[in-house]
Amino acid sequence: MSNSMRQNAIEEIASANYNIVAGDAVNIEEIYGENAFTLTKMKALLPKGTFKKLEATINKGDKIDIEIAEEVANVMRQWAVAKGATHYTHWFQPLTGSTAEKQDSFINPDFKGNITMGLSGKELIQGEPDGSSFPNGGIRQTSEARGYTAWDPTSPAFIKETAKGAVLYIPTAFFSYTGEALDKKTPLLRSIAAVSKQAKRVLAAFGEDSDGQVSCSLGAEQEYFLLDKKLFMARPDMVATGRTLFGNVPAKNQQMDDHYFGAIKDRVLSFMEDVDIELWKLAIPAMTRHNEVAPSQFEIAPMFEAANLATDHNLLIMEVLKKTADKYGLACLFHEKPYAGVNGSGKHNNWSIVSPGGKNLLEPGCTPHDNAIFLTVLTAVIEAVNKNAPLLRAVVANAGNDHRLGANEAPPAIISIFLGSQLSSIVESIVAGGAKDAGDAGLMQVGVDTIPTFPKDNTDRNRTSPFAFTGNKFEFRAVASHQSCSGPMVALNTIVAEALDGIATKLEGFKAETFNADLQNLLQSILKENERVLFNGDGYSEEWPIEAEKRGLPNLKSTPDALPAINSAETKALFTKYGVLSERELESRFEIYTEQYDEEILIEGKTTLDIAKTIIMPSAIEQLEVLTSQLLSLTDAGITAGTKTLKASAEKVGTLVDELATGIEALEAAVECGCYSKVIPAMAEVRTPADKLELEVADELWALPKYAELLFLY
Ligand code: ADP
Ligand code: MG
Repeated sequence: MSNSMRQNAIEEIASANYNIVAGDAVNIEEIYGENAFTLTKMKALLPKGTFKKLEATINKGDKIDIEIAEEVANVMRQWAVAKGATHYTHWFQPLTGSTAEKQDSFINPDFKGNITMGLSGKELIQGEPDGSSFPNGGIRQTSEARGYTAWDPTSPAFIKETAKGAVLYIPTAFFSYTGEALDKKTPLLRSIAAVSKQAKRVLAAFGEDSDGQVSCSLGAEQEYFLLDKKLFMARPDMVATGRTLFGNVPAKNQQMDDHYFGAIKDRVLSFMEDVDIELWKLAIPAMTRHNEVAPSQFEIAPMFEAANLATDHNLLIMEVLKKTADKYGLACLFHEKPYAGVNGSGKHNNWSIVSPGGKNLLEPGCTPHDNAIFLTVLTAVIEAVNKNAPLLRAVVANAGNDHRLGANEAPPAIISIFLGSQLSSIVESIVAGGAKDAGDAGLMQVGVDTIPTFPKDNTDRNRTSPFAFTGNKFEFRAVASHQSCSGPMVALNTIVAEALDGIATKLEGFKAETFNADLQNLLQSILKENERVLFNGDGYSEEWPIEAEKRGLPNLKSTPDALPAINSAETKALFTKYGVLSERELESRFEIYTEQYDEEILIEGKTTLDIAKTIIMPSAIEQLEVLTSQLLSLTDAGITAGTKTLKASAEKVGTLVDELATGIEALEAAVECGCYSKVIPAMAEVRTPADKLELEVADELWALPKYAELLFLY
């Protein structure tokens, strides 16, 4: 790369004409869902009986039989082909964290030169992509290298428009020859079934209708950065790792708070409009779009949906954002910390549980009965989070999120729950013993008293908490921006299933006459045991880690500290008990995530080395030469004025060059040995003098686009 790449990019951006061509306004109602094979479409196209059976599969988890699949495949293919589709693919979610596909054409040749288009029931239900290159953590031996995909009818098939037609995408789960999960969808579906089973027992104990499935809702707020693609391409660190490995925070960054919710620039707004249109066509309910806190940072939030669907949709949202950015000459970043010293990105997973009748069990409700159910489920969540804090920390652990969790912008690495003052005082009152005397103001009798309604305004929430109750849902805020929602949802569903199981067993033993009093005692004892996890204070404060330690709350600062909880004896017992992941499946995941982390750090180390040696060092040496020759010519001319400054600059640059060389040597050794614990500090040893050099080397000699350009020139 030459310096001119940076300069050219800046000049091109300065002269670029981003006059966005106005098109016809879209009619959302008309386009919404046009590329998704929604329930409404299936209802219209399938015979009544077939649709009913399919609906039972979707809503109750009934097994799909091959005749039904045959009919569904037929109408699905007809619909897709009419929309220009030539191929279909089983779309799955391997443990790489992204999605995978292998496309097959619909054509059936008759070998006389003609074709018909077809998709059989079997082809719809099951596929056999060659899975040998996907991470499997030792689950598959090469002799059994095949992976299988199985249709997930709870997530509608959809079409992606391509340059010459379209492709039909069939959401599927991916598993091995031996039936073990190799993906992120399988455990998610299992965890939803687990929490459903236990929540139904609790509902039944309260005399509620529990016919059908309990479901989990997920609304995932997605943060991302945009930057001009020309500048992105001139930053090999961003291209290779998604973040800057060098660079100084510019004088103006986010201190003016002028970006958050600010007016959206035309180019970005037009990009957002295109994104929304694409998403709406896929029946993805994109709702909110706005500027985020950091310069060139944005957020998109869809309306919440069933967790499985919302997880698929979040993956599609990230894909559409990336593709559309490209169309606008922009690069879209999901890295948790693209710029040091500037706010990073997260993904807030808003989660709730919904009864078969559609009642949100985290909605406090207005009657003492509904309040009691709410407090019971709330208690279960508190117990689950307290008992499994290390697991919740583990499922959001990755190299990128390590820069974010615990920094003063994002939730700390300590898992705690924010309830807000009103709900906290209710919990306190229950812990304090409940009201023995109904007239005792301030004390709450579960199932008898009504709890006050909570205001749902945004002031009553704590942005420094990793896990906050926000009116009628929990917001898991520690999730990494680039990761799939699946892992965090799997963990949450499973730990809550366990807590609900324990509570249900107790409730089932209560006599009707003493139900409320017994419930009160039960909630009191559980809350008492787990209240240490509740924290409404400032998670960024220096006192919190000290206080958390006193409470015995774990503070797992980095991925290597956090990941082992995925594989612990407790997690294995828990996940096996609820049929979410077997010991072998957990071990394979632990192995894969550990390897991914090591690999990522090593790539960062190598990229740092590459840039330091081939881009930064040459500029620094050139600067040193310039200064030295200037100094010589002044001295030759017998001029002493100015030599003091030149000499000081040359000394400074020279010293930094030496420091950089030392850093490079250390990093070379660390990369050679291949261990992250040495690579991370060695990267800092390179970055520190390199970033100082950025401030000393003449701008025209500096090849890497600077933060101010990356953050503001778009
Ligand atoms: P914010 O102020 O953080 O934007 P919102 O209340 O607007 O909060 O919601 C953020 C996300 O939470 C959205 O995706 C929204 O659909 C989702 N959400 C709202 N209610 C629920 C719920 N009951 N269960 C799950 N997600 C929900
Ligand atoms: Mg938000």
